[in-house]
Amino acid sequence: MRIVLFDCDGTLVDSQNVIVTAMTAAFGSAGLKPPSRAEILSIVGLSLPIAIGRLAAGHGTSIDRLVAAYKTAFHALRQQPEHLEPLFPGTRAVLEALAARDDVLLGVATGKSRRGLDAILATHGLTQFFAVLKTADDAPSKPHPAMVLDAVAELGGDVAATVVVGDTTYDVEMARAAGARAIGVAWGYHRPAQLVAVGADPVIGHFEELVPAFDRLFAEAAPR
Ligand SMILES: [Mg+2]
Repeated sequence: MRIVLFDCDGTLVDSQNVIVTAMTAAFGSAGLKPPSRAEILSIVGLSLPIAIGRLAAGHGTSIDRLVAAYKTAFHALRQQPEHLEPLFPGTRAVLEALAARDDVLLGVATGKSRRGLDAILATHGLTQFFAVLKTADDAPSKPHPAMVLDAVAELGGDVAATVVVGDTTYDVEMARAAGARAIGVAWGYHRPAQLVAVGADPVIGHFEELVPAFDRLFAEAAPR
């Protein structure tokens, strides 16, 4: 039996999408070309007027008006939870494909709370795919290996036949510290080179690549 443990934020669900969507709507409402996704994500963490001031620099437009438009768009998105944190492309298909195999069990290892994870899995109808869920309520934060070790023990599996799929170095380091393999995803919050540097092998660019990468990984890997 093989075990695939998925990270949640930045791997299965796009929790920054709401920011990009609201910002794109705000600029559109002012008749401006929206900033790129990378530009928008680069200002996450700044206060809204400063963030929008940077993104709108040189446009000669009213920052206050953009801030108000952003807030309006953000609050509208909040009313639609499935739009607030959408799945990344291919998420459902890859979970269906792996869950249908009788040599594979799926789980989640996330820094979210159990309540937060339950809510996002229910929102997207993903709960039934996972045989084990490990959250911030259960174990020390990544990169501590406890979530992986506990999940594997709970399923009666083998850590050498386990792979963690995640978007950050914390996921990869957690996997390696536990003695598991790690597949990085390129669409999250850390760059592929960072993931490779700490032991992700391989880093995939789309979920379509996951099943082939998973099969290759265990076909090539001698038990360790
Ligand atoms: Mg993540």
